[in-house]
Amino acid sequence: MTKNNVALLGATGSIGRSATVVLSCYKERFNVPLVAARSSIKELAACAKELNSAMALTTDKAFYSELSAALPQGTAALSGMEKLIEVVSSDQVDTVLCAIIGTAGIRPVLAAIEAGKTIALASKEVMVSAGELVNAALKANPQARLIPVDSEHSGVFQSLAGRAKNEVETIILTASGGPFRTWSAERIASATLAEALNHPTWSMGKKITIDSASMMNKALELVEARYLFEEYNAKLDVLVHPQSAVHALIELTDGSLIAQCAITDMKLPIAYALTYPERVTLPAAKLSLAEMGKLEFFAPDRKRFPAFDFAYAAVESGGTLPCAMNAANEVAVERFCAGEITFGSIYRIIDKVMSDWHNEPQKSLEQLDAADAEARSKAREVKL
Ligand code: NAD
Ligand code: MG
Repeated sequence: MTKNNVALLGATGSIGRSATVVLSCYKERFNVPLVAARSSIKELAACAKELNSAMALTTDKAFYSELSAALPQGTAALSGMEKLIEVVSSDQVDTVLCAIIGTAGIRPVLAAIEAGKTIALASKEVMVSAGELVNAALKANPQARLIPVDSEHSGVFQSLAGRAKNEVETIILTASGGPFRTWSAERIASATLAEALNHPTWSMGKKITIDSASMMNKALELVEARYLFEEYNAKLDVLVHPQSAVHALIELTDGSLIAQCAITDMKLPIAYALTYPERVTLPAAKLSLAEMGKLEFFAPDRKRFPAFDFAYAAVESGGTLPCAMNAANEVAVERFCAGEITFGSIYRIIDKVMSDWHNEPQKSLEQLDAADAEARSKAREVKL
């Protein structure tokens, strides 16, 4: 079997660590020439060793000498975003697994598309902020393909396999509801950081865990779905499903619902994106519906969770508004984590930035950088 040469970006994060397990389980299938991250240099070096990588890269040049000293013999140290773009575009790489948190993944993903690579995309901010540019790049480079890793979108992707575009009426993402699913609006507004970090079903990075509590994660995912599955022109919906067994459903024109179910373990969607259209046997636990006993579904409460209003506004308008929503949310979450604002103020900040926004269609990366910076500075200045 010819090996798939995978570049792992964001190797030290929550997704990066799950991906390392998958990649090291199937060494006969994968070669991992490059592992990259920004910081956590010891972990990055350990990952390079585990995956026997020829190159390890930190995007922050200040960490270069620390990385160089920590790497095993045979692994070259590299640094900087330009170098990252050069390597992911080179012949050494077939597939780019992007699990960089935030919008820093946009440039390497666009470069990989332009070089005709397969991209396994975990970084939802790439589609949220730059979905129009990414889709234009995919159209212009038909040999490139992009496969979602986010569990709900992987569920949609798996459910869509082989279906005619005009058969799909609605794409439905599920949401666990997070730790505040049954809380009153008043209680949510004054929730503490520890309460927001107490996710009932998934173990994830800190930022995405807070986004799950505010439902901004689902807001980002609705926009992500709008761009990932644009060609289906389907309605987008969310079902709150506390058991997190069903990750997504699609509703077909005859009323049939097709659902994808699995345990809450990111190794599944990661492995599927890396081996698609094949499937591998995973040493993960299997989902037992009998043990689970019951599955519940509720319509989301848009009054207690204004994140859905933001999402549908961003989905409908497109342009730079989703980028502004994402940037405002990132700043609001930082301010909440720093103890500067209440949980409820996260919504007020996003609302203010989005309501004042002057929207325009996506044109360039420079334009998105400027929109991102403007939304961040406005979000920092919002008086509460
Ligand atoms: P994390 O914070 O645990 O890890 C982030 C990784 O990105 C680290 O390796 C970090 O070094 C790297 N990074 C940060 N800034 C960087 C930069 N400027 N340049 C290069 N690398 C940089 O995050 P995570 O929870 O693993 O999430 C990663 C992405 O996957 C996010 O976009 C998230 O929304 C998405 N996602 C995560 C989960 C999950 O279960 N954690 C599920 C679905 C989607
Ligand atoms: Mg998800």
